[in-house]
Amino acid sequence: CGIVGYIGFLDAKEILLKGLEKLEYRGYDSSGIALRNEAGITVFKEKGRIADLRAVVEEDVLANTGIGHTRWATHGVPNQLNAHPHQSASGRFTLVHNGVIENYHLLQEEFLQGVDLKSDTDTEVIVQLVEKFVIDGMTTEEAFRHTLALLHGSYAIALLDAAEEETIFVAKNKSPLLVGMGEGYNVVASDAMAMLQVTDQFVELHDKEIVIVRKEAMTIKDLDGTVVERAPYTAELDM
Ligand code: GLU
Repeated sequence: CGIVGYIGFLDAKEILLKGLEKLEYRGYDSSGIALRNEAGITVFKEKGRIADLRAVVEEDVLANTGIGHTRWATHGVPNQLNAHPHQSASGRFTLVHNGVIENYHLLQEEFLQGVDLKSDTDTEVIVQLVEKFVIDGMTTEEAFRHTLALLHGSYAIALLDAAEEETIFVAKNKSPLLVGMGEGYNVVASDAMAMLQVTDQFVELHDKEIVIVRKEAMTIKDLDGTVVERAPYTAELDM
């Protein structure tokens, strides 16, 4: 399973699909991408191979921002509905996740009584919680950090907010995730290999850190919101 993300000026669709193909070795049963442009966020997902996802992605959806996912199902059978990305009730938030949320059921009972969950995954509660806390008055970043602090388990996450065009929100705990830096764009990947096509400059993330990834900048913070400084390293091509 794996995650990729791109924010910049190139065709995100092709970069994400190529990135997911590079992550195929990690194993998966389904895959999906979310593309963001002026028209909003469009999700394509499919059971099976990346080739099956390619077959349903519409060529004419052009976007400079997007996130992608290969799934190794832990909660909910592998099918199109349970494939990631998952979206919040209003459709404002779109999220991909690798890992396992052990307390998803408790969180659902405590916070999401009024929300109709669309999938059988543990993942969906994350995106619904973010939306709930935003409705309650938090900013997206606050809601994201607040949600992460409630989760027990492992996660690598990438999140899009339809109302915040210029940002991918990223987080990690006990699942691998890196951010990569380019000229005028930035990327996200479970393994540097997935994004060596566009950069070899990566920044390692530690557990319980988030990153606010923009085209020209990225900010790492801990779950309390304190900024963390970390220099990039050069990833070597492993031939
Ligand atoms: N637990 C999540 C699910 O079953 C994510 C699985 C993964 O890591 O791909 O959907």
